[in-house]
Amino acid sequence: MEYGYFTLKGKQVDNLPCEQCNNDTFNVKGIIKYVFVFLEYLPVFPVTKSVILSCTNCNEIIDRTAIESSLYKSIKKNVFKFYFVLPMYVGLLFFLSLLGYWQYLKHEENTLTKAYIHSPQKNDFYFINYEKINDNIRPTQKYRLGKVVSVNDGLISMIYGGFTYTRSSSLIRDVQGGMTYDARYFNHKEHSFTLDELQNLYADNAILAIKRPKNNRLYGNVVIDSISINRKYSSIAEMHNDRGLAFMRYSHIASNLENAYKHFSLSSEGGLSKGQVNLSKLYIGASDINKALYWLDKAAIQGNYEAIRLYIEHCNVADGCDKKLFISKLEMTGFDLSLN
Ligand SMILES: [Zn+2]
Repeated sequence: MEYGYFTLKGKQVDNLPCEQCNNDTFNVKGIIKYVFVFLEYLPVFPVTKSVILSCTNCNEIIDRTAIESSLYKSIKKNVFKFYFVLPMYVGLLFFLSLLGYWQYLKHEENTLTKAYIHSPQKNDFYFINYEKINDNIRPTQKYRLGKVVSVNDGLISMIYGGFTYTRSSSLIRDVQGGMTYDARYFNHKEHSFTLDELQNLYADNAILAIKRPKNNRLYGNVVIDSISINRKYSSIAEMHNDRGLAFMRYSHIASNLENAYKHFSLSSEGGLSKGQVNLSKLYIGASDINKALYWLDKAAIQGNYEAIRLYIEHCNVADGCDKKLFISKLEMTGFDLSLN
């Protein structure tokens, strides 16, 4: 533990003889020794309170034993008024309120989990202690995520995350990091439970908590994409473009921007001009004009007018970009640029 000291000035005391001079007036200084944890100016609680009496004339300090104990007590009482001592507990109050808040959050989580387990919904996230479901696992494979994929006639189907962990906090990290958004995070195999079975698992602590995404988000990250769900795509490139767009809606999260790059790149390589334009826009945003022009060129050849416009606009600021060559190339493939 670490200690800090806080000094108070008390009222002068009369009628105490000084052994060094004939003076009888003394200055009173109170010292509070307190415990602090992180910050010296955030005392947790006081340990000792003592007073020092010094002669106003010669600064001689009176030995405590030379003062009558009842007098010493009354001097102390005068110096350490409760409103000076109370702030010494500020840290304690702070930690207690943090603890209270943490317990409140825990309570909230439990209440919601109980409510969700009675009325499961598609896309509910389950924090599972897998050891309680399958005792044939290694201790490092204890925790994993589950996601409800369907609820039909009281039968709940769930898929499990492909990753297992020693600590339950790793599951939150996966959600926060946007990993669960990736379809590959979960295994395809579905496991079905009745409502009673789920409740038994909860009672058995196999289900630690259930989280229901709000606006497709949990812990601040996108966990399900409403666009991608239940939608048939004409091509994989189309799907990747859509996923990239979904990530861009929350692009302030760094990992989402990376994922958007990844999906737009896959879409671009799949030959989708929309995906190529989206990827180019990311490159333009990152001032990587040459890479942007590379993909805009590919999209332009396919007749994407936004790509043509962006190419011409950014060609002017790029080294070695030949606008005339670009236009003649387009005209040779049969585009009429005057229509735009
Ligand atoms: Zn003196």
